[in-house]
Amino acid sequence: MNNIERLKEAVKKSNNIVFFGGAGVSTASGIPDFRSATGLYNQKNDSNFSPEYMLSHEFFANHPKDFMKYVKENLIYEDAKPNAAHIGLAKLEKMGKLKGVVTQNIDSLHQMAGSENVVEIHGNLRDFYCTNCGHEYSLEEVKNNNYSIECSACKNGIVRPDVVLYGESLKERNIINAIKLIGEAEILIVGGTSLKVYPAASFIQYYKGNNLVLINKEKTDYDHIADYVYYDDVGNIISYLADI
Ligand SMILES: [Zn+2]
Repeated sequence: MNNIERLKEAVKKSNNIVFFGGAGVSTASGIPDFRSATGLYNQKNDSNFSPEYMLSHEFFANHPKDFMKYVKENLIYEDAKPNAAHIGLAKLEKMGKLKGVVTQNIDSLHQMAGSENVVEIHGNLRDFYCTNCGHEYSLEEVKNNNYSIECSACKNGIVRPDVVLYGESLKERNIINAIKLIGEAEILIVGGTSLKVYPAASFIQYYKGNNLVLINKEKTDYDHIADYVYYDDVGNIISYLADI
């Protein structure tokens, strides 16, 4: 089940590998995940609200300034660099072996590593927009405005990041792209996710092949249906597979 040489042979032969990743992909870059003991949800913050609530649509709608402050202080990691997982996946894409990355992460580290086809199902922190007029802002512009939530274009709307908050729906275009990639993949590598969060976890049910690879530090509920299971750092396995 865990024969990595056999998996590497399959990777060598394939030109239709898809990677589906979660927070565990970025922890080696110094970005905390949400649910583990050292994760964001278990860290103290100076408000009375839970981090999970502070990342909800309800909190954003009722406290947009505090929401933006939370984003600035807890979600933006300016010094984060791609790690071995991001670099290996970008290499496999350049070799024509990897079709795309579907990620739950909002940190843009895949793009920073050079990946081009990245479906960010939870959005990203590069792009911001006004909820009233739709004017778009880059992270750079938002920073230069000291993370102000006031829209300078219409003077009437609230600026927010293009991320999916709790209580909000995934974008249909992203769902379609993710399902197409996963549904047509020859090898699906799932990394750094406990596969507990709906609807992201349901995506792997679209995979029809017989090379389902799970890489996660802890067990997942899907281990029994996987063809290869590694309780390891995602970067360790990916860099080994990409070394061809
Ligand atoms: Zn506006």
